[in-house]
Formats: sequence, C-alpha cells, structure tokens
Amino acid sequence: MNQLAPPTSFQTDAPGAARDVIVRLDGVSRRFGTVPALDGISLEVRRGEIVGIIGRSGAGKSTLIRCLNGLERPDAGRVEIEGTDISALGERALQPLRRRVGMVFQHFNLLSAKTVEENVALPLKIEGLGATERRRRAGELLDLVGLADKAGAYPSELSGGQKQRVGIARALAARPALLLCDEATSALDPETTRSILALLKEINARLGLTILLVTHEMEVVRAIGDRVAVIDRGRIVEEGPVWQVFAAPEADTTRSLLGGLRPGLPAHITARLTEESEELAVLRIDATGAAARRPLLDDLAAAAGVSVRLLQGGIDHIGDQPVATFFVALEAGEPQALDAALSTLRASGALVERLGHVPHDV
Ligand code: ADP
Repeated sequence: MNQLAPPTSFQTDAPGAARDVIVRLDGVSRRFGTVPALDGISLEVRRGEIVGIIGRSGAGKSTLIRCLNGLERPDAGRVEIEGTDISALGERALQPLRRRVGMVFQHFNLLSAKTVEENVALPLKIEGLGATERRRRAGELLDLVGLADKAGAYPSELSGGQKQRVGIARALAARPALLLCDEATSALDPETTRSILALLKEINARLGLTILLVTHEMEVVRAIGDRVAVIDRGRIVEEGPVWQVFAAPEADTTRSLLGGLRPGLPAHITARLTEESEELAVLRIDATGAAARRPLLDDLAAAAGVSVRLLQGGIDHIGDQPVATFFVALEAGEPQALDAALSTLRASGALVERLGHVPHDV
C-alpha cells in the first residue's frame, strides 16, 4: 500500500486545545411535531478517536447524522465541526464544511454507471482537481483500501465488502476531518464486517483519522471503538470508554443492546439454582482494568479456604483492557467465612454477586 499523506487540515489547524475537538455537539435538539428526535445531545469527538453512537431504531441516529452533515438544522444547540458552528450556516457556506465530513453509507451509494476509479474520484472532480491528479489520488486511495486491481471495474462486478471499500475510499478522497459511518457494516456478513472494521481501524491508526460509527450493533463498537455514547429517545443515556460500558453497563437501554454479548450462566445451570444454603454457592464475578489483572480465582480460593470451580466465563479484551466475567461454584461452608472472602475480593475492585446454590453434580 502507498503511504498517504495525512489530510492537510491535520497540519494547518489553529493551535490550542480546541483544535483537537473535531466534533462538538452542544445541547442539540430537533423536534418533529411532538416527537423529540434529538433532545439535548452534547458530545465531543476528539482528533484520532473512534467513537460509536449506538441506539435502537427510532433513537435519533439518522437525525443526528443529518445534523452533522448539515442536511438538518437543529431547533436548538450547536453542531461544531472543527470549531465552526454549522447549524447557523447558509447552504453556500456549508459546502466546504460538508467536505470535512466523509460519509460511508450502509448501502454504499455508488454510481453504477461509473467505474470504481470514477466513483472514488468524483469528490475530487467536484473540488476541481485535474484529470491526472484525480487518477493519481484515486489510485492511492484504492491502494489504501486494497482494491488497486479494481480501478476499471463497475460496482456490479464487486462483492458487498469490495463495494464498501470503494465507499470508504470515496469518503476519504476530499481528505475529511471526520469519517461518519452510517450503519457501514449492517448490510454485510460477519466475516466481511470484520474485514471492513479492520480496515477502518487501520485507516484510523495510519492517518490519525477521526471516525464516528453510528450503528445499532454493539459488536461494531466493541470491535474498534474507543468510546461509545448510547442514545435512546434523542438523549444520551450512557457514555464512556467502550470497555467500561461493556463491562458495567448502567442504562437499561445499554444492557438490552448488549443482549447476548455479555456472558451469562448457562440456562441448564440457572434452572438448578436454589436459595438453599447447602452444597455449592454460585457467584458471578465481574472485574475490569487492574482488578481483572489479579489472580481473582486464586484470591477467592485463598480467602475462602476452599477450592473454586469455574462454571462459565473467562477474560475478554476490549481494546487493550481486560474484562473478566467468571461464574464460579465453591463449597458454601460457614456463611460468615464466605462473606469475608467476598469482601476480600470486592476490596480488590471486583464486583461479586451471589446467585444462589447448586448441587455438586451440575
Ligand atoms: P434512528 O435513525 O435512530 O432510527 P431517526 O433519527 O430516524 O432514528 O428518528 C428519531 C425519531 O424522530 C423517530 O421517532 C422518528 O419517527 C422521528 N422522525 C425522524 N425524522 C422525521 C421526519 N422527517 N418527520 C417526522 N418524524 C421524524
């Protein structure tokens, strides 16, 4: 792959901390009749970050995207792109700012009568670049997305994943400050989704490009996001580093969006849980960061003075952070002794929940 020069804006922005904020939403609201599609959204996206905005259908994602690319005006609040409030601008003044936001769409939105190279070069033609320069830049971009050999092909000759690579190359053509991905992988199979997300992550790492992922799929955010904001009925109901939100979701909306992505006790064991304080006690242990780097099962066994059996779970990594969830069974013994052992574990930062008891033969 060719080395692409970083977008020029990366070098020419005004000095100061503000230059590192690519998007600032401040109290953005938009109503349709009585429906508050957006209800006071405030969020900052800093240069080089990958931020996920996640919500169910109807949460306000599309309205937010339209506010970010200037197609929709909020009733209240500010939408700043690189420090400029675009919500107050007229159509003419908006044009150059729109080019600062590269859009990647769910259904690719390629022109079927144009070749791959022509699709990628289209934003450059609009910018007034000459044919030679357009070809050179389109070639670089196709190289970046791994499609150098498809320049002359038509979209109908490409797979879904290849079409999305073209969509990404086209979105990067005008050297945007922000790549705004609108359900960019929702039309793709899991394997292709993984390869597109890996490409976005690679572009983020190589070019320092800021990416906003708008999606209803937690897996997408989990795979490459640094931070996530969960929206519901036009409001941000939870926001934080992806690993933290995954490890300890606080909002009901987040929990329900996480659904099967969070480990649980297998149904056949859950079915045998009782309140009886005999046989084995079953615990759920959640830990992240420093607590997840401790030998938690050893700690528990030592504190309780009994051996600990792992029923389900393990350690996952989100970004570079360990996220541990263990379901364990251990001899219940004296209630006070177990309580003291759990306190020891909690003191090291783990969350411990007693789920009940099961017989030895689970
Ligand atoms: P999402 O993209 O998360 O599915 P939307 O932004 O499309 O959510 O919609 C948020 C809410 O605003 C929904 O209740 C939707 O019905 C309403 N809405 C969005 N656009 C319009 C519109 N142009 N006219 C009327 N209601 C709208």
